[in-house]
Amino acid sequence: MQYTLPLAPFDRIASLHQRLLAVFGPPSDFVRLDPISQMILAMLSGRTRNETALGVFAALVEHFEVARHKGSWQRLAKASSHDLDPLLEGITHPERKAEALPRVLQEIASLRGALDLGFLHGWPVENALSWLERLYGVGPKTSTATLNMSTLRRRVLVVDTAHWRAARCLGLVPERASPERSVRLLNRLLPNDWGASHTEEHHILMQDLGRTFCARSSKASCPFTNVCAGSATPQRTRLLEEWLRDAPPAHALPGGNVKTSQISPLKEDAANLNQGAAGAPPPVQTASASAASC
Ligand code: SF4
Repeated sequence: MQYTLPLAPFDRIASLHQRLLAVFGPPSDFVRLDPISQMILAMLSGRTRNETALGVFAALVEHFEVARHKGSWQRLAKASSHDLDPLLEGITHPERKAEALPRVLQEIASLRGALDLGFLHGWPVENALSWLERLYGVGPKTSTATLNMSTLRRRVLVVDTAHWRAARCLGLVPERASPERSVRLLNRLLPNDWGASHTEEHHILMQDLGRTFCARSSKASCPFTNVCAGSATPQRTRLLEEWLRDAPPAHALPGGNVKTSQISPLKEDAANLNQGAAGAPPPVQTASASAASC
């Protein structure tokens, strides 16, 4: 009879992160939008390609003259579905989003007396998530993206569909865990010393894995094929654990492998958009905004 010794506990997410960095390279830097703008972008990107969502977001900025009005989305808050329909071309579920976008802005203005989410900067993350998820059309993907990817820079992991798919494949969450439950489960696994930049980077790397391999016919070339828990057996799970334990240390990763930034239509507008974000801390990094598509 063969005995298997239990493995000592270790930080699986941190090790997986190192593996992902070795495969995909560090993500490019990002433009930090103010929280309202990031929320709108996250809502647009639900089940929509990043490029499409970014293009529609830029069209909304222009149409509602958001940059000219110092980042104020007031005009979108007053828009009708009729105004919005032609602007949401290419977006998934345009009719739902045409209803949700003005409504969520009206709710924020009515609850807070202003179109501003800067007050969430000082709130505990769990409370901030709950507050956001009570707004019309805001689910865990939008709430986490608003907190993590905006100028709020909160330490919380965004989990979109691609990320969720990869996390299930790798056995990080149970096969039957819904996307909503997976967000909570994965956030509980975060290494203690991670900050907002780590969680954002991890989300982008997992998104890359889910999109590049799990969702495509290129599964055979996936670097995780030998260890993936897709066919979860005790042997496979152990293999994955051992492989993750052997993840290269950060200093052993290839240097200069930063991916080219997506060309963001927002880059030039970001400074103007952020003017309206009273109470939000200044951007920590620069570059192209992330849509965190779902
Ligand atoms: S082996 Fe397949 S299911 Fe597992 S991570 Fe790779 S592509 Fe996804």
